[in-house]
Amino acid sequence: MFPPSIFIAVMSFVFGACIGSFLNVVIYRMPKGQSIVSPPSHCPACNHAIPFYFNLPIISFLVLKGKCGFCKAPISIRYPLVELITGLLALGIFFKFGLTPAALFYFIFGAVLIAVSFIDLDHQIIPDKLSLPGIIIFSTSCLFVPQMRFISVMWGVLAGGGILYLVALFYYLIRKHQGMGGGDIKLLAMIGAATGVKGVFFTLFTGSVFGTLGGLAAMAPSGKSEKRQAKIPFGPFLSIGAILYVFWGEPIIQWYINFL
Ligand SMILES: [Zn+2]
Repeated sequence: MFPPSIFIAVMSFVFGACIGSFLNVVIYRMPKGQSIVSPPSHCPACNHAIPFYFNLPIISFLVLKGKCGFCKAPISIRYPLVELITGLLALGIFFKFGLTPAALFYFIFGAVLIAVSFIDLDHQIIPDKLSLPGIIIFSTSCLFVPQMRFISVMWGVLAGGGILYLVALFYYLIRKHQGMGGGDIKLLAMIGAATGVKGVFFTLFTGSVFGTLGGLAAMAPSGKSEKRQAKIPFGPFLSIGAILYVFWGEPIIQWYINFL
């Protein structure tokens, strides 16, 4: 038999992948205003209901070679990718936090960030339906995470919402058009509720660095002189910054302080 910790690690990954399967439904349906509970999953090409054995996270995609089991229409690689990312998130959180209330808290937080990121990539919006309840729900971080205090939650929400609001206001006054969506403001307030004021500054800094690199990478292939003002969503980069903080925030901050 396997040692118990390996068994729990495998179960964490499987659990995460199953939640990832549900996140796919949220990502696909929520921006369209559809219910996320009914009707059950069906193929968008042939409308055939998908039985559970064709709906196993990651495995079904591999067995069906990326095609619908009925009409052979191609299935987007995005579905198993979201399941894989969520599985790895659960696995990483188990190794970092064990089976603790903090682990449950950060897994739910990470899952919401995954949904937010892919919806933002597809539609350039962050649904209020996720961020506003998120601000309230993740304000309970001080109950689940030992090092979080209520005062830190309060400052996290205020700083997260406030900083980006001021940036957006400033940008609007200078350029006379909206540069940053209100969705990003509410997202960073939600991240502040979960990680505190330190997490907000870390997320904003790393998110901006990744966002700049991502922006440069997106512009590189054209090589033309015309200025491409492609709108690059900020949500996924803020989400990566927030997850980075949850896993390695303290050591990275220490390393940075020593570096200075
Ligand atoms: Zn089909």
